[in-house]
Amino acid sequence: MNQLELAKEHFISLVEAQLERVEQMKNDKEAVDYHKLDKIMIGCCGGDGIGPAITQEAERVLRAVLKQEMESGKIVFKQIDGLTIENRIAANKAIPDEVLAELKACHIILKGPTTTPSKGEGPNIESANVAMRRELDLFANVRPVFVPEEGIDWTFFRENTEGEYALGSKGIIINDDLSFDFKVTTTQGTERIARQAFEFARKNGKKHVAIITKANILKKTDGKFLEICYNIAKEYPEIQVDDWFVDIVSAHLINEKVRKEFEVFILPNLYGDIITDEAAQIQGGVGTAGSANIGNRYAMFEAIHGSAPRMVETGRAQYANPASMIKAAELLLRHIGYAKEADQVAIALKVANDTVKITGRSDGATGAEFADCVIANL
Ligand code: NAD
Repeated sequence: MNQLELAKEHFISLVEAQLERVEQMKNDKEAVDYHKLDKIMIGCCGGDGIGPAITQEAERVLRAVLKQEMESGKIVFKQIDGLTIENRIAANKAIPDEVLAELKACHIILKGPTTTPSKGEGPNIESANVAMRRELDLFANVRPVFVPEEGIDWTFFRENTEGEYALGSKGIIINDDLSFDFKVTTTQGTERIARQAFEFARKNGKKHVAIITKANILKKTDGKFLEICYNIAKEYPEIQVDDWFVDIVSAHLINEKVRKEFEVFILPNLYGDIITDEAAQIQGGVGTAGSANIGNRYAMFEAIHGSAPRMVETGRAQYANPASMIKAAELLLRHIGYAKEADQVAIALKVANDTVKITGRSDGATGAEFADCVIANL
């Protein structure tokens, strides 16, 4: 088959898979009500690099704050090993089948960072995160950034299953000179992220939602995203809505005069990935930020940073900052309806952040010492 025929076939198979996904989304609108469950199963999945060390500390905090619920059997923790780069390479799968089955047996996942080899660094294995978001249909990536002394209280709603990432490992190399990757936007995928953001704004008294795109350049995908977000906005007339291009919003976030105006952001996948790291840096670094990945059936909570392989190579894993994973644990508690416990963790985390010096090296505290401080202040 010649190159053109191969490319055509490849593209047709991508379109077919996406049309199938659209049909699934149309039929999947009911979200789990955790209050109605007899038992909530929380899977703790350490991942790679510094992941197991920091996930273990966040789990300790959860176990301490949920002691009674564990005793009553309402909350059950399950250890999920095996989401390591070694196992994933051996299985040649982003998530080995047995690990995926274990994840799917839980309601909620607390997940440590996982390594994704870059081009040239190892096999072309898909990001475990991207695969998990797709397999568990975790369509909303929610990241809070809070710096009260600077008037910053932002919540980012990043679309998690589409954009450039849905087909990130399905690009095509036509020949030595020509390659394509693909970006995908659907009506259903955009409606559900927009609705989550506006519902959050309404329930939390937020008055301003900003839609972030590059719709002037990517007219078909970002243009559609923008139009649908504005359509959903009509259902929330009390909320002020505007839209910004991703380049200027990245500048505004470091402009102290204007950044206070922002409250809730809706972003397609790639821009959300980049902008939320910038925002986390304003809060004190990626080590401080957690994020929620929410779908109708499952939810996964994680740090926003990666597996920091150099920290492990240089024997510093125990000095990694678990604040990001503990923040993720706080978001987890809030999601399953334990707001009081989440507030306890938030307050104790602030005490630990203010009093325990973590440097990522042996001149600072260990992650375990940091978590001890959180637990002592619950
Ligand atoms: P990284 O976030 O792992 O590291 C960036 C820098 O931040 C490094 O200097 C690291 O030492 C430091 N750092 C990160 N977390 C820290 C913590 N908790 N305490 C102290 N210092 C911390 O980013 P990277 O080096 O670009 O990526 C490494 C690997 O992680 C890659 O394979 C990447 O694909 C993967 N990754 C995974 C996720 C995820 O699972 N959600 C997210 C981003 C990157």
